[in-house]
Amino acid sequence: MGISDEKVIRYRGKELHTKGWLQEAALRMLMNNLDHEVAEHPDELVVYGGIGKAARNWEAFDAIVKSLKELENDETLLVQSGKPVAIFKSHENAPRVLIANSNIVPAYANWETFHELDKKGLMMYGQMTAGSWIYIGSQGIVQGTYETFAELAKQHFNGSLAHTITVTAGLGGMGGAQPLAVTMNGGVCIAIDVDETRIDRRIETRYTDVKVKTLDEAIEMAEKAKAEGKALSIGLLGNAAEILPEMIARGFKPDVLTDQTSAHDPLNGYTPVGYTQEEASKLRKENPDEYVKKSKDSMKKHVEAMVNMMDLGSITFDYGNNIRQVAFDEGFERAFDFPGFVPAYIRPQFCEGKGPFRWAALSGDPEDIYKLDEVLLREFSDNEHLCNWIRMAREKIEFQGLPSRICWLGYGDRAKFGRIINDMVASGEISAPIVIGRDHLDSGSVASPNRETEAMKDGSDVVADWPILNALINAVGGATWVSVHHGGGVGMGYSLHAGMVIVADGTKEAEERIQRVLTTDPGMGVVRHVDAGYELAEKTAKEKNIKIPMMNR
Ligand code: NAD
Repeated sequence: MGISDEKVIRYRGKELHTKGWLQEAALRMLMNNLDHEVAEHPDELVVYGGIGKAARNWEAFDAIVKSLKELENDETLLVQSGKPVAIFKSHENAPRVLIANSNIVPAYANWETFHELDKKGLMMYGQMTAGSWIYIGSQGIVQGTYETFAELAKQHFNGSLAHTITVTAGLGGMGGAQPLAVTMNGGVCIAIDVDETRIDRRIETRYTDVKVKTLDEAIEMAEKAKAEGKALSIGLLGNAAEILPEMIARGFKPDVLTDQTSAHDPLNGYTPVGYTQEEASKLRKENPDEYVKKSKDSMKKHVEAMVNMMDLGSITFDYGNNIRQVAFDEGFERAFDFPGFVPAYIRPQFCEGKGPFRWAALSGDPEDIYKLDEVLLREFSDNEHLCNWIRMAREKIEFQGLPSRICWLGYGDRAKFGRIINDMVASGEISAPIVIGRDHLDSGSVASPNRETEAMKDGSDVVADWPILNALINAVGGATWVSVHHGGGVGMGYSLHAGMVIVADGTKEAEERIQRVLTTDPGMGVVRHVDAGYELAEKTAKEKNIKIPMMNR
């Protein structure tokens, strides 16, 4: 029994433990982020993505829980890097919680400063959805990963990954979605992880099919499945920085190559070559500087091998962990020779305000999610891609914690679906309120020059006003909780981003808030891409009558 077993309570059903459904939603989602089915290391409050946490420490967690239980319907709780710091009177349509995590004044925004502050108990790393309480397990990323591989298949392999082998690394909270996304696209995947427990977890949740411990076995199984055109995912125990060069030495070349180790955090997220998990933990504690040095050196070797494989013909892309930057800083000049996944495969979706939209059933009843699946299939029947996704998700994705669903909806469709959800809660068709939110990795909520805003058409990659405007307008519109974070995805100094969650409790007021927020939020995505000069975004803005004062000037 760990401490999380005692502290994290699975509230379900219609009974309130707070003074209103909005507070209840925040309470249940905080608990859900730390549910043992959902979080990677709940006893350390770590949800995913290296050390992405839901609260600063257990004392702060208890204080957040108490605050949410006591919070009035016209009050707002302020959370600073995982610690509750104030409760102010606001009004009923204001957010119930405002969150700022890991923000550091730009000139000081690096891991060294963060670790110092963290050690002093002044800060925590909020990642994206960890500190903003809308992480829904690997499901939260799986459609994005699926869409990425689907677009890659369209661009390079006639629309299917059948008869191809993808090699990647990292089977953590997010990276664990890769093998499933590859097999959903018909392909074979070898996913390397240095930690056997992570491979086992992905097998338990059906994200990975089999585990092997030698490269020979992995190659043999993968090549057989490739020749037969069978979809198969293989979890290979090992260190990617060691295995990739070995693959090259043996003349094995994958068709597709990427990586999703937690390279954004050289101290806590990446294991250097030559260390077992135990040895790595020991070195991390005893000599963190040496650990970081070794870790960065391994990342350089890792990226060198990726570029070598790219030269040999593997379709190679960065999967949002900033590994190229580390290798570049370590002196590997060709580190950025392969592109990031957003400019390569995802940006057109952002231009239409699409991104990882999601909802969770506060009742805990899977039937609520299934009913919403049916509604999507009915209301969006002309969108074949979306309907295929919903059918596949229903069949292949296990719920973790509160039943939830992810679906990349865009401008217009989010507000339409939000209204339907609220109506169904009002009529009692859905048994309790639904939480609606999204990842920070969305169309108009993040500035991250090595990821979401890499290679913007107008060169505005590092402009960080957009996530701030996104958070402000969503708060004004009445989102239930709004967050502004630094360093998610790619690490300290490399990103600023905002989160939004809104609750459909079936009331008229909720309907109005939902209409406002589910319009402004994806609207910011369209606007941001119009401003950068993307024609698809301009087309979307014109079709949807979004008012943009200086469009086409
Ligand atoms: P995580 O910390 O839960 O998992 C990382 C995994 O990498 C662990 O299982 C670890 O054992 C493994 N690993 C570390 N070093 C390794 C090595 N040298 N060789 C093989 N395996 C190694 O993190 P996560 O939540 O899965 O996120 C992974 C990365 O992806 C992070 O950098 C995160 O910021 C980024 N991310 C990307 C997206 C996206 O859409 N592209 C979304 C979210 C997160």
